[in-house]
Amino acid sequence: MDAVTTAVSPQAADVKKAEKVAYENNKLHKRLCRLVGQAIGDFNMIEDGDKVMVCLSGGKDSYALLDILMTLRERAPIQFDIVAVNLDQKQPNFPAHVLPEYLTKLGIPFHIENQDTYSIVKRVIPEGKTTCSLCSRLRRGILYRVADELGATKIALGHHRDDILETFFLNMFFGAKLKGMPAKLQSDDGKHIVIRPLAYVKESDTERYAEVKQFPIIPCDLCGSQENLQRKQIKALMREWEKKYPGRVENIFSALSTVAPSHLMDRDLFDFAGLTATGEADPNGDIAFDEEPCATPADSSVIRLQLDD
Ligand code: SF4
Repeated sequence: MDAVTTAVSPQAADVKKAEKVAYENNKLHKRLCRLVGQAIGDFNMIEDGDKVMVCLSGGKDSYALLDILMTLRERAPIQFDIVAVNLDQKQPNFPAHVLPEYLTKLGIPFHIENQDTYSIVKRVIPEGKTTCSLCSRLRRGILYRVADELGATKIALGHHRDDILETFFLNMFFGAKLKGMPAKLQSDDGKHIVIRPLAYVKESDTERYAEVKQFPIIPCDLCGSQENLQRKQIKALMREWEKKYPGRVENIFSALSTVAPSHLMDRDLFDFAGLTATGEADPNGDIAFDEEPCATPADSSVIRLQLDD
């Protein structure tokens, strides 16, 4: 066969490339559905008859959340309603038409709540100081009230796995607490259940999904506030780990749901004072003396042999 007959035409190459892209996009959509479905199931986030208020900021994550929840609702064996809510905080240049247009096209019930928290924050917080904590507190209060008014039984937020891990590290480094961001919690007014169905989803997946779906993203820096520098640094560190040490971030995330209170130091979680020897061997007990935490399986067998000798 000569070179002319084996060459792939540019059109055929384009078709092949388009097929590959479609295949990858489909895989991404399936993965997102699977992980969101799994988180919903693991934490019993949504029950039959729920009305889920999806908080939509105009960022990639909340768009992805709404999109995936809508897909899962079609397939779910239970019946639940979705209402999308956006809080227009009257930030300068906020494109107020974008979300109503998008949501109308989707054909989903929605509510836009107009509250000028931007002016309040600007008035109360001195110039140059960080505005996020007051802004979020105001936003939270308003969203809880709106949830009441709409009769929502669950409030869904678009935080993902990386938000949870960043919060975990921030709390540890700067708050001296082993505390992340829960996948499901009771709101601080005690009246609502807040859920984070993207808890198992990586940020890079919501980023890609937003590109694939061409969500009409509204920039998140309209208020003029700088992103929390420490969070930015932790995000960069995690991205570096992902590249250099594949699996490390996944392991840290898994560790959040595999906690051993007896091997930590919180006396409220484990009764160290009342601990006594039972006389019974525990096969899952402490192996700290016979295995190096970083040993490879081969190394650890050598260590065991040496100890046994
Ligand atoms: S970045 Fe701006 S809008 Fe977001 S919480 Fe901070 S002050 Fe509020």
